[in-house]
Amino acid sequence: MVDVDKIEFRSDVTVEIVRSSAHDSDVLFAARVSTKGEQSLEDVEGDAERSKGLINYLVRARHGSPFEHNSMTFYVQAPIFVFRELLRHRIASYNEESGRYRELRPVFYVPGTDRMLVQEGKPGHYNFVDGTAEQHKLVEEETKRVCEEAYASYQRMLEAGIAREVARIVLPLTIYSSLYVTVNARSLMNFLSLRTKREDSAFPSYPQREIEMVAEKMEAEWAKLMPVTYAAFNKNGRVAP
Ligand SMILES: Cc1cc2nc3c(=O)[nH]c(=O)nc-3n(C[C@H](O)[C@H](O)[C@H](O)COP(=O)(O)OP(=O)(O)OC[C@H]3O[C@@H](n4cnc5c(N)ncnc54)[C@H](O)[C@@H]3O)c2cc1C
Repeated sequence: MVDVDKIEFRSDVTVEIVRSSAHDSDVLFAARVSTKGEQSLEDVEGDAERSKGLINYLVRARHGSPFEHNSMTFYVQAPIFVFRELLRHRIASYNEESGRYRELRPVFYVPGTDRMLVQEGKPGHYNFVDGTAEQHKLVEEETKRVCEEAYASYQRMLEAGIAREVARIVLPLTIYSSLYVTVNARSLMNFLSLRTKREDSAFPSYPQREIEMVAEKMEAEWAKLMPVTYAAFNKNGRVAP
């Protein structure tokens, strides 16, 4: 029997930057080899503050490849329905925990009270409005009930000697998983342009709130590493170069 007290419900996501080699100056040498050849080596430790104009021009003109000479690795914990969306971003490298090789932990996502519940508008342009207290209660109760029942089934099958890869089929998409994802700034800008909702974007996107929570945390880390590029991205309508 599953001890329901051992089941954890969370309403957040974890995003930690575990490795990075990402500086605004990385953009400079990559861009300047075009006109300076070997002299671009002088830009390897260049002062990006003094070259703000160049970085802004590259973003605005969508000269994207100079933004690829850097790397950021994030550790992410999020529900599997978020990973289904995250893994669509192909210009990235991923490694995820396995439901075949380890017993999945009883950690499930349940929307927090600040999660808007009711959808209005048309596909591709939804607006969300807060639900009533009854709707929030219903979502929480139903999610918790299903997760507890599903995890109990999973445990019963494991105890009966069924393989993890078979027993896991009863688990809901709201169960948490964990992965590492490595991206460069160009790819991250594409991800942020699509997975954050910003009305001031040149091309506003309407992502699911839970992947936006992941995106917002990645954005905060990247902004610290490459502030000049980050400012240029925002200034130019959050379009990936
Ligand atoms: C709001 C929203 C709703 C969505 N709804 C759906 C949906 O209903 N169904 C669905 O299936 N998907 C949906 N998606 C996923 C979407 O179609 C993309 O798969 C996802 O956003 C990844 O974007 P990407 O291809 O630009 O990223 P990446 O895969 O990281 O690619 C980055 C860039 O590389 C280039 N590139 C990569 N691979 C190729 C290739 N094979 N050929 C040519 N160029 C390539 C493209 O320029 C691309 O923009 C949705 C996404 C968003 C943001």
